[in-house]
Amino acid sequence: MNKTNSDNALCKRLLDSLDKSTCNFMAVAEIETRLLENGFIELFQENVWSLECGGKYYFKKNDSSIFAFIVGDDVVSGGFHIISAHSDSPCFKLKPNAEIYGDGGVVSLNVEKYGGGILYTWFDRPLSISGRVMVAGEDALHPRTLLVDLKRPVATIPHLAIHFNRGVNEGNPLSVQKDMKPVIGYFSPEELAAYKEQGGVVRSLVAYHLEIDPRTILDSELCLYPAEPAGVVGATEEYFQSARIDDLSMAFAGLEALLATTEKSNATRVLAIFDNEETGSGTKQGAASPVLRDAMERIVKIMDGGDEQNIYRAIANSFMISADNAHAWHPNYNEKYDPTNHPVIGGGPVIKINANCKYMTDAQGSAVFSQLCKEAGVECQYFVNHADVAGGSTLGNISSSQFDIRGVDMGAAIWAMHSARETAGLSDYIDSVKVFTKFYEK
Ligand code: ZN
Repeated sequence: MNKTNSDNALCKRLLDSLDKSTCNFMAVAEIETRLLENGFIELFQENVWSLECGGKYYFKKNDSSIFAFIVGDDVVSGGFHIISAHSDSPCFKLKPNAEIYGDGGVVSLNVEKYGGGILYTWFDRPLSISGRVMVAGEDALHPRTLLVDLKRPVATIPHLAIHFNRGVNEGNPLSVQKDMKPVIGYFSPEELAAYKEQGGVVRSLVAYHLEIDPRTILDSELCLYPAEPAGVVGATEEYFQSARIDDLSMAFAGLEALLATTEKSNATRVLAIFDNEETGSGTKQGAASPVLRDAMERIVKIMDGGDEQNIYRAIANSFMISADNAHAWHPNYNEKYDPTNHPVIGGGPVIKINANCKYMTDAQGSAVFSQLCKEAGVECQYFVNHADVAGGSTLGNISSSQFDIRGVDMGAAIWAMHSARETAGLSDYIDSVKVFTKFYEK
């Protein structure tokens, strides 16, 4: 593909942002940084909001989901133009009392699987740790949150040598509890005693990084992440590879579109980045919570609260693009795909369809999206599961159980979804930004 200078800049920003977004919390922090750089103002759910037409705002929930919006000129007749995506990706989370002490002073970490990752892909990689740490605040009910990213490889999950498991290449079931414990180094008895005094190796590393006393840490949510930076692959640099492409590539495409829209609009443009999609969205910061609907109601009440029917009218005038990556046709596994609806990398954004309504897409939502693609000068494609394969679901249909909104489920096609290193196409990312921008300009 021939990329323009602005395409190249767009792709570079994507790779940089992926590298900074090492977990759900860091992804939200990266989005927040870019919103602040572009004049967005932070709101807090517990405070009174005052809004104005054309104003740019955002609020966070749990530091792991973020909702940005530009207030339209007519919130009722314009409705909400929403792009949603998710901040979380499959990973390993550290359990409390995570450290297990073995022979030779080796320390391994007791972890729990978050989401449905491809376990094999996590072996023998440099891993780092990021997440959030809670320290004492003004009172017991309001601890302070500190985000942490060690930013250097501190752990690895070594695979068992083939000599101890000759059948490893013929199918090898894995236990998270036994096989997936990362090791974080070996230490002398004196070093270990000193670390234990500080609450353990990880707590000491985290506290050192944050320049705080480890004994002030009340609790934490930390995860392991693959420490290799995102990169470009392919004979003509057509692919990019990274951890967490699902779904951060769609989150950043939505962000780029929101930041790029300059034209005035009656519609209120919303970027909704939910957490916990990978575990079913059932948290206060997930798509099954009322967090987005409550914000929409609040915006309508502030901007046009004269008639209590206005919120219903605004929702009826709204449209949601639920953006979550799709499965690209894999040349080695043709039999896994639907014979006539298998999107390819480089073929443009993908409309996802399921007869049993696992996706929110219906003919109307699909028609809207394909027309937007046409107007943006972008090709689009369709994904339907092989009829004998049960697919997953995503944000769209979960959101529409909170508010009855029209919409479409779509995403750019990727390989190896939920691998520690996924692969996608740069041109599909660029095309996604184009069609999202077109949607926000409506
Ligand atoms: Zn996803």
